[in-house]
Parts: sequence; C-alpha cells; structure tokens
Amino acid sequence: MIIDARQHWVCPNCDHAEVTAGADNRFHACPGLAGLLAPMVLDGVRARVRAVVREDYVGGEDVQYDGNGRPVMSVVTERDNGQDCAVFAPTAHVRSV
Ligand SMILES: [Zn+2]
Repeated sequence: MIIDARQHWVCPNCDHAEVTAGADNRFHACPGLAGLLAPMVLDGVRARVRAVVREDYVGGEDVQYDGNGRPVMSVVTERDNGQDCAVFAPTAHVRSV
C-alpha cells in the first residue's frame, strides 16, 4: 500500500499554489494582500483570508505596513469551523546615545 501524504495548498487572494509532503502550515508573500505574509489554505477548504488594518495611532511603534503603506495588525483566516489569526505585533525600539 502506498500512502500519498502530499498536501495541496492554495491562496484565496492570488494564484499561488504549493504541494508539500507534510501538514505544515504554508505562508507566502501574497500579491493579493499587497505583499503581506499570508497563510495558504488546503485546496477544497472554503476560507477567506483578509488583512486587518490598524485603526489606532501608530506613533513611534515599529509596525508592519503592506505594499500600499497601510499599517496592518494581522491577517485573519476565516473558515466554516473557525478562524486563525497571524498577528504582526508592533515593536518598540531604543536609541543609544
Ligand atoms: Zn496569495
């Protein structure tokens, strides 16, 4: 018996597709989400992947911007049985004198 463990991944926001030998989650720089690092979903799974734009003041924090210059907080994957969230946590920085 030969077991085919390949996983077929697609992106709902662009034409990118991959085939892997394991069940690892796949991410790619998605042109459909202005270059953000976005997850792929298993082929055949109904899902929506969307970017969540930051709505509060950025100030001096280092945040993730998309290719259109918008500050993005996270990328959310919504499926029929739940959702996942990839967070772009803002970071602080210091300057030494
Ligand atoms: Zn994509």
